[in-house]
Order: sequence, then structure tokens, then C-alpha cells
Amino acid sequence: MEMKTKIIKINPQAIDFEAIAQAGEILKKGGLVAFPTETVYGLGGDATNPDASHKIYSAKGRPSDNPLIVHITNMEALEKMVAEVPPSAYALAERFWPGPLTMIFRKNEKIPYETTGGMDTVAVRMPSDPIARALIDASTGYVAAPSANTSGRPSPTEAEHVAQDLCGKIDMIIDGGSVPIGLESTIVDLTEDVPMILRPGYITLEMLGEVLDQVKVDPGLIAADSDRKPKAPGMKYRHYAPKADLKVVEGETDAVVQEINRLCTELSAQNKRVGIIATEETKDRYEQGIVISIGARDDEEAIARHLYGILRRFDELGVDAIFSESFATAGMGQAIMNRLLKAAGHQVLEVS
Ligand code: AMP
Ligand code: MG
Repeated sequence: MEMKTKIIKINPQAIDFEAIAQAGEILKKGGLVAFPTETVYGLGGDATNPDASHKIYSAKGRPSDNPLIVHITNMEALEKMVAEVPPSAYALAERFWPGPLTMIFRKNEKIPYETTGGMDTVAVRMPSDPIARALIDASTGYVAAPSANTSGRPSPTEAEHVAQDLCGKIDMIIDGGSVPIGLESTIVDLTEDVPMILRPGYITLEMLGEVLDQVKVDPGLIAADSDRKPKAPGMKYRHYAPKADLKVVEGETDAVVQEINRLCTELSAQNKRVGIIATEETKDRYEQGIVISIGARDDEEAIARHLYGILRRFDELGVDAIFSESFATAGMGQAIMNRLLKAAGHQVLEVS
């Protein structure tokens, strides 16, 4: 069913609270509003309303077993929606909330199974973005918000990306400009004996280790070819993917550049259009293809911020194939490579 999607611009530094109140009313009535967060744009619906959750799944074309993250602005809201808040959660919240960390708890009856994809646990995040916070406070205080993209496409880092995927399917898009981080939140499961990272993100294993005595990484995340299913249902799907065939070329920089140049020559001879994800250091060394620099090699923040936008740009340009350099940065490197490899369906060309 097509509907008219209202797009409004809000300046995060000077929030128009009247416009936010309107958006909050839409959410309270069960409608959908896309909004910026510090990670990526979210597609918001009232997390306490089963109909709103249904609408989110249907607008995104998301498999209904893939649970939604519930966004809140204060600890009282958390205490009202979960069976128990373990001490580790208070410690993590003290250090990382508001911010790009999602924690998993056992749920209570406040949040319906429609929101949690039938699970007895619920994922919760307290975002720092001022527009997101104002919107949550103007609604019921519980906003279910997966990334605001069509399921399978790269997550949106600008309002324009949301419009490409969801115009005509949701009530409103709040345009608050480009997001600062550009990758989805880190997810840590607190329902296990030892807290476990289900999705890497801006908050790294090392950072979590500074607060928790013990923390481990979901084994289902590490080996792409293993039979172990990741514990976060969403991590098993092909994801973040551009339309073109994307391959990651890994190895020593000179060899990588040389191999990508060779592959480009080969494909160009077949009249194929090729995109290249390069870095500031290498962008002038490619002889053909459409070259986009993702940032300097050691600037992990820039690489994270630009990745999804570049994948979408190559969709617009209609390239047939994309070759990307590999980015083994410290810190967020794990999250960046997790998303890039999923987008590539784990196609990696090793060169030496
Ligand atoms: P998105 O908000 O679209 O970035 O996706 C949310 C991610 O959180 C997906 O990978 C979900 O599978 C995961 N998730 C949400 N709730 C839970 C939960 N209760 N247990 C495990 N993973 C969850
Ligand atoms: Mg998503």
C-alpha cells in the first residue's frame, strides 16, 4: 500500500520540538518514522505496539524471525521492560550509554513477541543522537528501530538513502544530515554466563573488556564457513550488500593494486563497468574503473562513515563489479571487515 511519506529537516543543534511532537504523535498512533541516530538511520515504530512492529517488518521486507532493537532514553525505561538488569548492565550503561552499544536482556510482558521476533529476550539501546532522544521522549518512550533500509541493502547513513528505500511505505522521514559513525551498534548479550558480542561495532572488544571481567565473541561470527549459526538472527543473512558483484582483495598493498588493475583490464575488455573502493594512499594508482576513496588507510572512523554510502553510490552508477581493498585497522577494524565481508558474500581474493 503506497502512502505519502512526509520528509522534514531538523537541525540537531537547534531542534524544532514542534516538529518532533508531530513525529511522536505518529509513533503513538502506530505509524512509522525514520530518524537519524549516531550509528545509522533507524526505522522507528512503537515497540510496545504489535501492529507497529508488523509494519516495520513489512516496510523493510525483513524476515519476521529477525528481532528489533528497542530504543530508550533512561534507565527507568530499561527496568520497566526487562525481567532483570544484571550488575554488568549498569556498569556498561555507566560507561557507554547513551551511545552505540546494544545490550540483550530477558524481556517481560511490556514488549510483545512481535517486536522480539518471538524471542524471550530483547535488545535495548540508549542512543546519544539528540534528534533520536527527543523523538523517543515524544513517543511512548520505547521505539523499535532497525536500520531504515530495505532488508539486505546497505544501511542508510543519510536521509536520502532512507528515501530511496522507504518512500511511499512509511509516514515520515526526519532528515538530520549525515550520521557520525556509519556502522550499526555493537551488540552484547548479557543473558549468557559470560557476556558475548553478537555483532562488532564502534564499541570494541577491548573497550568492553575494560568494564567487564570476562567477555567473549560469538563463535558463529568468526568463521564464515563454519556450521555454527550466529546467535543474533540478523547476522545469518546476506546483508549490507550492493547490487554489483563485490570482491575484497587482500594482501600487501602493491600486490593488491596490481591485481585490481589486472582484473579491471580483464573486465573492461568484456565491456563491464567496474567500481573500486580505494584509499587516499592508493586512489591515483588505479588505471581504469570508477575509483572512490573511502579515506586514509589508518582513519578507521572515516572508513566506517563512508562504507555504506559508497556501496549505494556504486548501485546508482550501475557498475557490474566492485573490487575493494581490505582494511585491517585497529579498533573498529573488526566491525568494518565484518560488514564488508558480509556485503561481499565472503568473496575474498588473496594476493601476495
Ligand atoms: P538492525 O537493527 O537492523 O541493525 O538489526 C538488529 C540486530 O540485532 C539483528 O542482527 C538482530 O538479529 C539482533 N537482535 C535483536 N534482538 C535480538 C535478541 N533478542 N537476541 C539476539 N539478537 C538480537
Ligand atoms: Mg539492519
